[in-house]
Amino acid sequence: MNFLEERIAKDGIVKPGNVLKVDSFLNHQMDIALMNEIGKEFHRRFADCPITKVLTIEASGIAIAYPVANEFGVPMVFAKKSKSINIDGEMYVAEVESFTHQNKNQVVVSKKFLGPEDHVLIIDDFLANGCALQGLISIVEAAGATVEGLGIAVEKGFQIGGRVIRNLGYRLESLAIVDAMDPETGTITFREQN
Ligand code: 5GP
Repeated sequence: MNFLEERIAKDGIVKPGNVLKVDSFLNHQMDIALMNEIGKEFHRRFADCPITKVLTIEASGIAIAYPVANEFGVPMVFAKKSKSINIDGEMYVAEVESFTHQNKNQVVVSKKFLGPEDHVLIIDDFLANGCALQGLISIVEAAGATVEGLGIAVEKGFQIGGRVIRNLGYRLESLAIVDAMDPETGTITFREQN
């Protein structure tokens, strides 16, 4: 097991409804040393890519994307969840359905912060059905920028998102892929990765 799988096995809590709670170290209380290690690991995995921006989605993606951007020495941009329907043409907009909250949000990124010259690494904490990543990909493409790859802390391999994104031809790296989890016993099964 790698460092993140070990931590999930130790402190992750399996909830009914296919939800894995990692709020004691990843997305509510945050273990900063772990975040920094995640930043280093994504930097190592995407070291061959000419990354100019790291893109994520608020809120919990920010804490993962920050150390990644720090390692690459590039800006981090986060898509904002916007309630306003009054989008003024200065924003790239995507519609994202939230897996955990079961609602739809418009997410926006200012056109000032992404353009055709950018090579983007997309980062998020979880991958479930892939809506968040597809929204972020559509924003990068609307900007005429290049998606160099996608980095996820925890992919739930029994949901369709990972397969959809890989089938679209994108390079997707997940630090931990959970293939099964049992809310009765709390058992979490990880996919073997090399
Ligand atoms: P997707 O768009 O891939 O269906 O879901 C990804 C988003 O939903 C992530 O940004 C993450 O915030 C949230 N999410 C999905 N599954 C889980 C989960 O099992 N646990 C937690 N804490 N968040 C999740």
